[in-house]
Amino acid sequence: MTPICLVGIGKIAVDQHVPAINASPDWELAATVSRAGTVDGVQAFTDFDQMLAETDIPVISLCLPPVPRYAYAAKAIAAGRHVMLEKPPGATLAEVHALADMAQTAGVTLFTTWHSRMAAGVAPAKAWLADKKITGAHINWKEDVRRWHPGQAWVFEPGGMGVFDPGSNALSIITEILPMPIHLQSAELLFPANCDTPIAAQMQWTENVIGDFDWLQEGPQSWDITVETSEGTLALHDGGARLVTGGTEASAGADREYPALYDRMAALVQSGGSEVDVTPMIHVADALTLGKRITVDAFHF
Ligand code: NAP
Repeated sequence: MTPICLVGIGKIAVDQHVPAINASPDWELAATVSRAGTVDGVQAFTDFDQMLAETDIPVISLCLPPVPRYAYAAKAIAAGRHVMLEKPPGATLAEVHALADMAQTAGVTLFTTWHSRMAAGVAPAKAWLADKKITGAHINWKEDVRRWHPGQAWVFEPGGMGVFDPGSNALSIITEILPMPIHLQSAELLFPANCDTPIAAQMQWTENVIGDFDWLQEGPQSWDITVETSEGTLALHDGGARLVTGGTEASAGADREYPALYDRMAALVQSGGSEVDVTPMIHVADALTLGKRITVDAFHF
């Protein structure tokens, strides 16, 4: 088993990374770095430089929010460590490109993970759409920020991406399954009066693709993508976990998103490769560049 260090012991590290690593035959959770969080029985550092200086753990998985992540990734690569990045892989496109260049020069693996692409319905959806004529698609991504990000102020600060934090999951799926590229034509972004990031967005792309993103949906949550083709409709529900084609449940499977990411990281490290894909982030950046900004009521957790 390869030793791995997990950095940023917060919500997603505890919910997904720790269980996925512990259940994997490839990885041994050898250390954590976090100012407040720890994992029982695992060597805990509060200082990243100290961990790099005092251990030779070859692989670092960064679960921090996007803004602080670049500095950690750059230091890890400079120290010759392989790096796995939570999504979205950075606060800006340029910093992810810079990390990719650094990793290539250093000869280490860099993996920009997009966990929703590992959802059970995504690969079969991509295969089903591969030879179809697409006539349109609709993303309906509506959840309750208070339920999923309680008190996480960073999501509304610069670089936190607001509704595009979960929305980038939808963008990672649509850019994976469509057999052709799309680009944004217009967007409306709703910014709470006291926030630096949007809380809702409507987007319109080429090829008749539209998206509705909302972070104030109470009650049932919606993580759905529908694709219209000349041979019928494909629908992904529950964030990609369930696939329905032509009105019939086509496939579903156990949630293996994070275990699959760690399987992929193990394969990349073994082969000496990297996987860097910023496509979902391009659509977020385009929305923030092109979108009409509308100010709405202030938001409070
Ligand atoms: P979080 O719990 O708010 O933050 C993770 C940890 O990062 C914190 O516990 C904190 O640990 C550390 N951290 C926060 N701000 C920092 C800073 N400025 N400098 C250094 N360390 C800092 O966030 P999260 O929900 O786990 O999300 C982290 C990433 O995972 C995001 O990119 C998010 O999009 C992604 N993600 C989240 C979810 C989810 O359901 N929440 C799902 C999938 C992916 P210490 O204070 O102990 O250092």
